[in-house]
Order: sequence, then C-alpha cells, then structure tokens
Amino acid sequence: MTEAAEHKSGESQAFQADVARLLHLMVHSIYSDRDIFLRELLSNGADACEKLRYEAIAHPERAPAPFAIKIKADKENRRLTIEDNGIGMTREDLADSLGTIARSGTKAFLDTLTAEVQEEAEREAEADRPQKTGPASDLIGQFGIGFYSAFMVADKVDVTSRRAGSDQAFNWSSDGKGTFTIVPVPLEDAPAPGTRVTLHINDASQNYLEPYEIERIVREHSSALAVPIEIIEPAKPEEGTEEGEKAGENKGEETRRLTDGAALWTKPKSAITPEQYTEFYRDVAGQFDEPALTIHWRAEGRHEYTVLAFIPSLRPFDLFDPARKGRGRLYVRRVLITQDAELVPHWLRFVRLVVDSNDLPLNVSREMIQESPVFAAIKKGVTNRILQELTKLSENEPEKFATIWEHFGSVIKEGLYEDAERRDGLFKIARFATSTHTDGGRALKDYAANLRENQTAIYYLLGDDLKRLAASPQLEGFRKRGIEVLLLADHIDAFWVSTAVGFDGKPFKSVTQGAADIKNVPLAEGEEDRSAAADAGGLAALFAFMKQTLGENVEDVRTSDRLSESPACLVASDFGPDRHVERMLAEHGHLGKAAKPIFEVNPAHPLIEALNADLASPDKEKLEDIIWLLFDEARLMEGEQPADAPHFASRLTRILLKAAKSAEKAGV
Ligand code: ADP
Repeated sequence: MTEAAEHKSGESQAFQADVARLLHLMVHSIYSDRDIFLRELLSNGADACEKLRYEAIAHPERAPAPFAIKIKADKENRRLTIEDNGIGMTREDLADSLGTIARSGTKAFLDTLTAEVQEEAEREAEADRPQKTGPASDLIGQFGIGFYSAFMVADKVDVTSRRAGSDQAFNWSSDGKGTFTIVPVPLEDAPAPGTRVTLHINDASQNYLEPYEIERIVREHSSALAVPIEIIEPAKPEEGTEEGEKAGENKGEETRRLTDGAALWTKPKSAITPEQYTEFYRDVAGQFDEPALTIHWRAEGRHEYTVLAFIPSLRPFDLFDPARKGRGRLYVRRVLITQDAELVPHWLRFVRLVVDSNDLPLNVSREMIQESPVFAAIKKGVTNRILQELTKLSENEPEKFATIWEHFGSVIKEGLYEDAERRDGLFKIARFATSTHTDGGRALKDYAANLRENQTAIYYLLGDDLKRLAASPQLEGFRKRGIEVLLLADHIDAFWVSTAVGFDGKPFKSVTQGAADIKNVPLAEGEEDRSAAADAGGLAALFAFMKQTLGENVEDVRTSDRLSESPACLVASDFGPDRHVERMLAEHGHLGKAAKPIFEVNPAHPLIEALNADLASPDKEKLEDIIWLLFDEARLMEGEQPADAPHFASRLTRILLKAAKSAEKAGV
C-alpha cells in the first residue's frame, strides 16, 4: 500500500511534488488549448473500458454490456460529468494514479520543460495571457497531459469510482491546489462499476457546459476512440420523452450518440478521413504532432490481422532511451491485450501502431500470446511491410522520405547492425552525408554509380561532428581525385560499418586507416599531384628525426597520399580498428590504451620542405617544437586534445616568440 493510501479516509493528502508543479503550470493555463481536457478524460475512460474488456475474458461476470462513455452538462450547477463503465479504481488506485504522476509522458513533459522554458511558461502564466507561441507552448503541444488537465477548466474535481469486482466505492476530490481527499461512498452513488469524473467548471470555462461545444470537441479530438461516446441532454419537449425512455433514461433526459466507438482500423480506408487518422495516431502515440506516414493494411493468407501504423513527424522524447522498445497496441479480435507489445524490432521503435489479430489465442496470458509463433510471424510481416512502404516512399516521394530520415535515420541505421537479414533492404533506403553532399540525403546506389576509375572501395570517415568531418584534412587527397567519401557522424555508424561486408561488391573502407591506396585513381580535372613530384626519398632523414622526436606517441612516420593542403595527419595502422572506433572503445574502457597512430606527412607542403631544409640547423629545439605542434594540430583536427596541453602551450609560445622576433629583425 502506498504511503498516500495509508492515510485515514477524508484526511487531506498532499500531491507528489511533481504533480504540484504540473498543476501550477496547468491551472495557469500555459497550455492555450483548453479543449484538450476533454480529450484526455475521454481517452482515460476508453482505456478503462478496454481494460475491463480484457479482464472480462477471465471474469465474464464483470463485463457490463455495452461499453459507453456518457457526458452530461449541468449548466445550473456548473457541473460537467464524464462517466465510463470501465474497470474503475480502488482506493489505492485513486491515491496512486491521481496523486502521483503515473504517466511516463507527463513525467517526461516536466523533465523536458527546462528551467528556461519553465520560466517563460510561468511568466506567461503570471501575465494570465495564454499564448500559442513560444517554445513552452510548442513543447507542451507534443505531449498528452493526462488527467490533471481537468484543473484548467475546473475549480474542483471529484472522481467517484468503483473497481470492477469490488463492493466498495470511493470519491477522490481536490481543488488542484496541493492536496486531495479520498472518502468511501455508498454503492448507489457510484457507477457499477466504472468512474465518474465531475468537473466543477470555473468561471472562465462556462462554454464547456454548452452541448454544441462538447459535441464539437468530441468530433474534433475523440471520434476515433474504440468506445462510443454519448451525451445526455434534457429531452426536447416537442419530440416527447419516448426516445429518452427507450434509452433507459428518465427525468426527461435523452441520450444521443456522438461517436460510434467502432475500432478505426476495422473500417475501410475509404471511410476514414485524414483527420480521423491523425486523431487516432495522437491517442496511440500520446504525442500531438501529425503523422508523417500512415500505413493501414489487412494481411490475409496464413495469418489474418489488421495493422494501422504511423511514423511520427516529431521525435518521441524517449527515442534514445535504451529501455525503449518497439511498442504497439496488440488487440486480439478487438480486445486490447497490451499497450506495449513488441510488434516491431528495436530499430523501428519510433513507429506507433495497432495490430488486431484474428488468430492469436485470447484465453492465455499476455506473455504467452507474445511468445507464440503466430506473434513472431506477425512481427515479421509487419516489419517487412513497413520497410517496404519506406522503400516505396523513398523512391516516389523523396522529399517526404527525407524528413522521416532526418528524424529517424540514426535509429533505422541500427538495423544495419542488428538486423543482418534486412541489411540489404535497409541499404536501399539509408541516406548519408558525403564529402560532395554534405547536407545528407545521398543514397548508396548513387554513390556506387559515381565511383571513380580504379576506385576499389566505398570510403568513409567516422567521427561525431559532421562539420568537422567535412573539413578533415584526411579528405584532401580523395577530393583531388574526385572520390566521394561517406561522412558518418552517428554513434551507430561505427558499428554497422565495421561489420558490413560491403555494398554492390565494394567493401567499406575507412579513410583514416591504413595506406590510402588511391594513387591508381586518376586526378580530377585541373588537379595536379604535387606530392608525387616531391622527392619523398630525400625526406628519410627528416622522417627519422620526427620518429625520434615523437617517440612512443606514433607507430610510424610516412609519406601521405591523402593530403594536399595540410602538412600532416594521423591514421590508424592497416590492421586493427579505425581511429574513431578506437577512441570510442577507449572511452568505454574496452581497450587498455588506444593503439599508436601513424603520422602521415605531406611531402609537398612548404612547411615540410622548410623543415627538411632546416634539418641541419643548430636550433634543434625549434625543429622539435614544430614537429610536436604538427602532431598536436593533427590531433586537434580529429577532435582530440593536444597530447600534453602545457607542453603544447609552451611550444606554441616559443615558436610565436621566435616568429615575432624574426619579423621585428626583418623590419616587417
Ligand atoms: P495516463 O492515462 O496517460 O496514464 P492520466 O494522468 O490521464 O495518465 O491518468 C493516470 C492514471 O489514472 C491512468 O493510467 C489510470 O490508471 C487512472 N485513470 C484515470 N482515469 C481513469 C478512469 N476513467 N478509469 C480508470 N482509471 C483511470
């Protein structure tokens, strides 16, 4: 039992700290669209009905028939009630669910509201001027806010509930100012079973007591719920009360159905409007953007199931949470089995979907359903179809696909590593930034079509910053030869690229690893290879001196094929991991120490030529300083720190001083 629930009846209990914070923001209506309170309450009511529908498989006596959510406005008493005949709540449920933040989305919403945004939100709140603009409101719009949104429109909220199968009922009550109470109520005053939420509508929100207003909101936001929504109104005198009586209402009231409650996915596509799809997506995703792609199909054949899948247009907040799995709602013949079935692999975890199967068994546990071979077959079918739809989109509507890739490409690429079976399919849709297409969006097949004469590999450069990669000296020689290089800056890139065999018969090769081997590729038009002309043989003594100076810090010093503008760079040896991978491994403590790099030198660079000419000079300190500075410069270009910062600083100062003095002497 929770601490809150241990309190005696009626004693007032404090909300969890986060709830208090949220309520403050809510009540001050930073969320400009107050209408959403109804959407949230109706969605809770529908969830409660779906839970009871499931429980009734094991306890048929608990099922009320039929399920419905009823809304009633009492203008005179300024009350709006929303009543469902779903699963209901026990006293503990009331304390836990409505006294704490049960919903992960709400918690994340609060966490995402950074101090700055929150300040802005609170300023807006203080000024009592709800706005739709500004980061706070944009941000809030992405989340479902849940039950507490009721306090945007109500001074006080009562929740009377009876759990299905229980013979006790309770009333939870709060004015949303920091405390709530829970008291037992007689059974005849409570739904049997279910939950009645009574809102004591505040002065500013009287419009929500108008039936046409309620109807508008229901149609706009809740028509895709899988439970019918009804409104109870005073009977219209001229029509008599016959109809009302038929519906089982008395006191001159009649019930009017606003939505049919038929599961959206069971309807033919042609009968569903884009708005209904969007609304349904929002309910499934708990996110309030528009879907970027909607896929709705019915699989027939060995297994029969219907799928309604959405790709969001915004990244869900927990996209990179390691605990986040590919989640979807699994129904078996219209009965909701679970909200988070693993219906798609990890690399499709941003897809929100509903699957309704006719073949899965209903009368076994949730866990067993998901372990059945039929479930595995459905998962495979769903995954293949989504990949197929993405492929089609990439071919037919590249722009639309580009936005999806922009948001989720780094997640989809995880499939290149984890899902060997679909790797080829994924290579078809994967898009990359390259040295010639730094904005991204380059397909591998276009890269492959652009290979240069004698080019034997697909080259890539790994790192964690695209801008730095694009400016890397390692690319110079490749540019000169017109060789395109993939710039891979996502975390996952290091993994798939080192395990993939290749694409289109060409292996993937890191430009920072081993000898560049690009001499056989002809220079691009108008380029000359100065390094070839330079007398590399004459540099042997300089290289030996460099090696001696840098000592244990390098494996070797050699001439470079890959440089043209820069004097030097660092590469990994031919065997062993790429430098970036090595760094990543070292950061995660997987290798004792990163292997030593090879220091590659551009023989045609004037600085190298000057150093070579100066080799006999008595000022050995200057030579050493320059060599160390070159080494540290190469490290900096890779996004690393100088090997030894204090030495780096003193050497730089010494060289600058010498340069300044010689300039002075020369009278510059
Ligand atoms: P969410 O619905 O996303 O979990 P809410 O803040 O809207 O977040 O609701 C919190 C919890 O309160 C729900 O998860 C559910 O357990 C419970 N709850 C809310 N409304 C109802 C209801 N009408 N019937 C049963 N339980 C409810």
